[in-house]
Amino acid sequence: MISVSEALDHLFALAKPLEIESAPLGQANGRVMAQEVAARRDQPPFSSSAMDGYGVQAEGAEPGATYKVIGEAAAGHSFSGSVGVGEAVRIFTGAPVPAGVTRVIIQEDVSREDDQITLSKNLDSGFHIRPLGGDFRSGDSISAPRVLRPSDIALLASMNIDQVPVVRKPIVAILSTGDELVMPGETPGPDQIIASNSFGLQAMLRDAGAEARLLPIAKDTRSSLEMAFSLAEDADLVITIGGASVGDHDLVGDVAQSLGMKRSFYKIAMRPGKPLMAGRMANGPMMIGLPGNPVSAMVCGQVFVLPVIRAMLGLGENQSPSRTARLARPLPANGPRMHYMRAYVEDGEITSFENQDSSLLTVLSRANALLICPPNAPEQPAGGEVRYLPI
Ligand code: AMP
Ligand code: MG
Repeated sequence: MISVSEALDHLFALAKPLEIESAPLGQANGRVMAQEVAARRDQPPFSSSAMDGYGVQAEGAEPGATYKVIGEAAAGHSFSGSVGVGEAVRIFTGAPVPAGVTRVIIQEDVSREDDQITLSKNLDSGFHIRPLGGDFRSGDSISAPRVLRPSDIALLASMNIDQVPVVRKPIVAILSTGDELVMPGETPGPDQIIASNSFGLQAMLRDAGAEARLLPIAKDTRSSLEMAFSLAEDADLVITIGGASVGDHDLVGDVAQSLGMKRSFYKIAMRPGKPLMAGRMANGPMMIGLPGNPVSAMVCGQVFVLPVIRAMLGLGENQSPSRTARLARPLPANGPRMHYMRAYVEDGEITSFENQDSSLLTVLSRANALLICPPNAPEQPAGGEVRYLPI
């Protein structure tokens, strides 16, 4: 058995960043921008009014001053003339500031009669002009790699970038194995259950930016497994679920190896999820074999598969980020395996659930944290600081 961090090292050796492709801006949210991009223009491209009001020369703009309104500037409609002493231009938010104007008097501070305006007694002191390039200048860049968020998309749009260089989404083929499994919505026989892990993992991996596909459920036979593996040739990663222990019906490792899989490890000192394997298939994709127990599969997804997806997306080779919290109750000493306990964190206090059986999806669904108990950790008192993975 190897440790969790040794297993991750092996996985990172197998997972290489994927190539770069171009995504239309409208489909780039959530994708990983692969290369720095630079603004194609200044924003704003002209000095512009920040308010609705009147543009005047700043000198002499005192309470009681009067001006003649000589024209109008609105967003998308500039005023082409220039504004002299004693002259004003009616101006609106976003309009280019005309030549000669150095201050915008907000309309609330002005009284108007025909084309004559007078500034009021309590004049607001702001100039209300946004300078050319005040947001960014042409050539200013956004750094990469980064997972694009809606605010980045707005910035890219404003920089006039309509195609974004992104890392190709990893294609992940998810393969459930087991004679007892049927798809959600089907009518299971008396000795059957519904495949759940594959759906949970698909959701998890999609959230992480992968294109996750479900393969048809494979039976516990060599031919069915071989057929399923053959459907995954174009994937970057094949994830099998179940069939990875040492029972008579656990054929995944055998079949994968007979198809030329080069195994890099099998079995990890962790709970849940000991029977984990990984390697590279002869026909290309990386392979990770997850245990079948639903919670084990999801925990291994969190601990091992998500970091692999991030590495493929060019986001570095890092463990899933953990946080700290204080124990609400004492924590018993741990055995020799790293234990990821289903737990609930609230206001910085963490409580692990009573029942840690690795088949209980109700407990996993109530949990928002995996409390990390390192191998051989001694008993810990309430209030002690521990690490956890947010889930
Ligand atoms: P195995 O590793 O194949 O022995 O599976 C361990 C346990 O997990 C068994 O109770 C299986 O029925 C269950 N199991 C395996 N695969 C799935 C799956 N995709 N969804 C739900 N349960 C599963
Ligand atoms: Mg099975």
